[in-house]
Amino acid sequence: MRLPRGTGASGIGPGRGPWPILLLLVASVVLPTACVLWFMAQAVQNERAAVQQRLADAYRSQLKAAAEQTSLRWRRTAGELSCPADQAAAAAIFERLTTSGVCDAVVLYGPDGKPVYPPPEAPPSATGPVDAAWERAARLEFVQSDFNAAASAYGEIASRAGDVARAAQALQGAARCLAKSGRREGAIGVLAGTLQGPDYATVRDAGGRLIAPGSLLMAIELMPPDHPSRAGALASLTARLNDYGPPPMPAAQRRFLMRRLQEAAPDCPPLPTLSAEELAERYLARGPSLPASPNLNRTDLEGVWRLASPDGTGVGLFREERIREQLRSAAMAGVAPGEASVEVLAPGQETSEAASFAAASAGEPLGGWHLALHLEGVNPFSVASQRQTAAYLWTALLVIAFTAVAALTVVRYVLREVKLTRLRTDFIATVSHELRTPLASMRLIVDTLLEGHYRDQAQASEYLQLLAKENERLSRLIDNFLSFSRMERNKRAFEADEIRPEEVVAAAADVVRGRFESGGCRFDVDVAPDLPVVAGDRDALVTVLLNLLDNAFKYSENDRHIVLRARAEGATVCFEVQDNGIGLSSRAIKRIFDPFYQVDRRLSRRTGGCGLGLSIVRFIVDAHGGAIEVQSQPGKGSTFAVKLPRRPSGTGEGPSRRPAL
Ligand code: ADP
Repeated sequence: MRLPRGTGASGIGPGRGPWPILLLLVASVVLPTACVLWFMAQAVQNERAAVQQRLADAYRSQLKAAAEQTSLRWRRTAGELSCPADQAAAAAIFERLTTSGVCDAVVLYGPDGKPVYPPPEAPPSATGPVDAAWERAARLEFVQSDFNAAASAYGEIASRAGDVARAAQALQGAARCLAKSGRREGAIGVLAGTLQGPDYATVRDAGGRLIAPGSLLMAIELMPPDHPSRAGALASLTARLNDYGPPPMPAAQRRFLMRRLQEAAPDCPPLPTLSAEELAERYLARGPSLPASPNLNRTDLEGVWRLASPDGTGVGLFREERIREQLRSAAMAGVAPGEASVEVLAPGQETSEAASFAAASAGEPLGGWHLALHLEGVNPFSVASQRQTAAYLWTALLVIAFTAVAALTVVRYVLREVKLTRLRTDFIATVSHELRTPLASMRLIVDTLLEGHYRDQAQASEYLQLLAKENERLSRLIDNFLSFSRMERNKRAFEADEIRPEEVVAAAADVVRGRFESGGCRFDVDVAPDLPVVAGDRDALVTVLLNLLDNAFKYSENDRHIVLRARAEGATVCFEVQDNGIGLSSRAIKRIFDPFYQVDRRLSRRTGGCGLGLSIVRFIVDAHGGAIEVQSQPGKGSTFAVKLPRRPSGTGEGPSRRPAL
């Protein structure tokens, strides 16, 4: 019998190989998937660009708003820098502007263009309270170092002095001499007590300096740290130095006293205008007049910028850090922390275009200053586009999954159709081939008998027996073909009768016994008593046993011994056909249930098989909810065990029902 080519389902048609399936897969899965992925990549890229653009626009307008706001603020600041018409109030304006943080220092000019505050330093006056008494006291102090006598002499001058200025200076001299003579408390009493009285509050020395604050500083310098009056004296002097009201204190004296006080008492209360005074002093020391430009511009001092008031009567001085900080905090007002940082660029300062995400001019009057925004930490537009990307990704995955499922369904359908087509082709080829052999031998026998080519009646009956055998083989073949054909078309319906296993065994054994025994085969039937009934189709189950017995006979050679058993095994009834034939390799066992599969084609041709018997067996057993097991060893024989579920108890009584399986 001819073995049909390629009984497996891997090919799609004779000689065509797997290419059509691959082409189908490429066309239905790979191409759409590639397209979807390409579209997705493009969409993500576009989304990123759009988000980046939107974000840059948002930051740019934010920077612009910040620039407008700071520009407004600086114009207001410039307006505040004007010198008042009442020039006596200039010192108070200086104090207010510098302590409120409007600027780091300010220089206020009068209508003549000369500084009103801080005023230029007065040249030291050579004149002093010189007369005979004063000369005597000075000689005692400075030449003879007779401090006690000098102190008395100064005291005498003070008590006789006609004006408070002379008295105050004499008292200062007396205190100085008391300190030099070791009478520190006496000196402190004069400096921190007598000279701080209301009579001396506005008294100045020949250089225009106020005497009272200078005396208080001297007293503090004389006081030890634990002196009971020290804290009071410190507070009083600090208050006086921080007070820019009348009587006006010369700026040079104020700076001098402030520095000396900080040296003498580092623990003194803060002096907030000292750095402004020093900055203004340094600025004026370089002799700059009013700037020509109304915009913020550099001074000769390192890191100091200046801004003139619109009326040109004031110049505010600003340290660069202050300008930067103010611009930065205005620009950062709407930026989430950790998202971006703002770089402030002075005129002429550059930032790399690539590093800055958005930039804007700081506007007037900060001509030339710029704000540059840098993104920090996690890229915000990648975060923003991530969500969109995820949506695209899920859509793409769904499309791909759907395409793959659809393609698989199509491929499976095509494969099934191909398999069916092949089975039909193989079936027709096999049927025509297999039927020809028994028909040809039957015709030969019939011709021989008709023509009388036989010796005697014995030979004639021998021919007739051969004829019957071929006829039987033909019937078996046709039965198998019909079963297979119905099975393939799913047309085979099985009845669910109550079947007694011993009846099935007896029916199958009766059919084969004569043939087996006449063929020199030992045939044993072993049925366990009281077997449970099974639900099934009697004829189909007999076919199962007949096919197995047939195979056992066909694939055994000398000293054939075939055993047919039936026994209960757990919840099943087990039918077993055992032979001592040629056996099967484990590789062959895996394939023998495939339609048209034959291990040895020549042997099968001789024995009259067509490769359908076991596939019919498996089909019937599956339809009965059973299982089939094979144990075999090449050269030692095989055992085929069919296990059918026993009919559940309680359903086996009463008239038999015949539902279809
Ligand atoms: P066939 O009609 O060719 O016997 P089957 O479907 O009944 O087809 O069996 C398929 C193949 O399995 C056989 O061709 C044979 O090679 C092998 N086979 C089946 N039963 C046995 C057995 N009892 N011993 C050895 N080989 C067997």
